Amino acid sequence: MALNLILLIKYSFSPTHPPLFPFFYLLKKYMPKRNLFSISCSYGDVVDLFVPSSAQVFDGKIIYCVAPAMGHNKDSHPECHLRVPSIVGALDNMKLTPKFRGSEIFELQNFRPATVDDIASVHAKAYVVGLEKAMDQASEQGLIFIEGSGPTYATPTTFQDSLVAAGAGISLVDSVVAASKIGKDPPTGFALIRPPGHHAVPKGPLGFCVFGNIAVAARYAQRFHGLKRVFIIDFDVHHGNGTNDAFYDDPDVFFLSTHQDGSYPGTGKIDQIGNLNGEGATLNLPLPGGSGDIAMRTVFDEVIVPCAQRFKPDIILVSAGYDGHVLDPLASLQFTTATYYTLASNIKQLAKDLCGGRCIFFLEGGYNLDSLSNSVADTFRAFLDEPSLASEVDNPDILYEEPSSKVKQAIQRVKHIHSL
Ligand SMILES: [Zn+2]
Repeated sequence: MALNLILLIKYSFSPTHPPLFPFFYLLKKYMPKRNLFSISCSYGDVVDLFVPSSAQVFDGKIIYCVAPAMGHNKDSHPECHLRVPSIVGALDNMKLTPKFRGSEIFELQNFRPATVDDIASVHAKAYVVGLEKAMDQASEQGLIFIEGSGPTYATPTTFQDSLVAAGAGISLVDSVVAASKIGKDPPTGFALIRPPGHHAVPKGPLGFCVFGNIAVAARYAQRFHGLKRVFIIDFDVHHGNGTNDAFYDDPDVFFLSTHQDGSYPGTGKIDQIGNLNGEGATLNLPLPGGSGDIAMRTVFDEVIVPCAQRFKPDIILVSAGYDGHVLDPLASLQFTTATYYTLASNIKQLAKDLCGGRCIFFLEGGYNLDSLSNSVADTFRAFLDEPSLASEVDNPDILYEEPSSKVKQAIQRVKHIHSL
């Protein structure tokens, strides 16, 4: 503990290591002033630090970042610049922002963008540098499509916007990890960011995704915080092929994806389980079209929980895509606002049980602005341990019967493959 604090202090004050500034800000803001100590760190500096007398040092329940990438936009494209403002507007309307909740909800602002080196922990440097250069072309033409990347567009601000999105995730890792070292109940993080990331492969962008935000954060958690074992849950309706590929050989990052069978980009078959040392540390569960709340509850209890318990993670990161919602235009699962509430609540509890509550959500898909915003708002309510308001927005009349026998078969098969 003491060593950790010393390292944190050093990092907090070093101009070359700004990422822990938010942590120090939180310390100063929330720690009781009577516990002021001076600590000599290993570099000879003497600094003042508020040390808690009890475990409860930060009583907030949510810490979030907003990175709307307003310049990264294409008219009538589903992955447009209205998405994050729509969520933020809904949070405000539903009184789920710091303005209404005081210290219970904290918005981390002025976080640092990711560096090229951060991104290069996942992506080929040639891609990162090439994308930066492509900004000249985007400036001349206004908007370009990146060759071979599926329908991924770029505007003159795409490179910088993508660094900011990845930086938000990194900064949340800093803050959540730091809070977990001084309290037993750290806030749950949510990176409200775009462009999304889980399709971006190590060598390039794909499927609306530019940099693998969650993969970069996972590597960062390992490298800068010594959190060796990272458990990634991806409940976006599409397979997180980029995250899958980044860690396919890696036994220390468990990637678990549920997605609609046959949906874009066509990867994530049930027998894709990792390779070499990473064999068994990738779990892909394609769900039949029409799968909904019952399917996801069963998957959580019978697959996600035993998998995570066996893996023993140090942190849980979540690719939170809301395009599995029944109202989403890009797919045909039947998740509801209530499904996302239950998922968020269960994942938060899982993190509490297994890894000191360290848990961060990353926005991925979700293209119906109403269902996206309502679902994120209910996710916030789950993090706050408040009741769901899903029944006010979900319409059970539009749901049809889930393909329960096919779902059961898929679950049995994945349990057999992974010995769960
Ligand atoms: Zn998606």
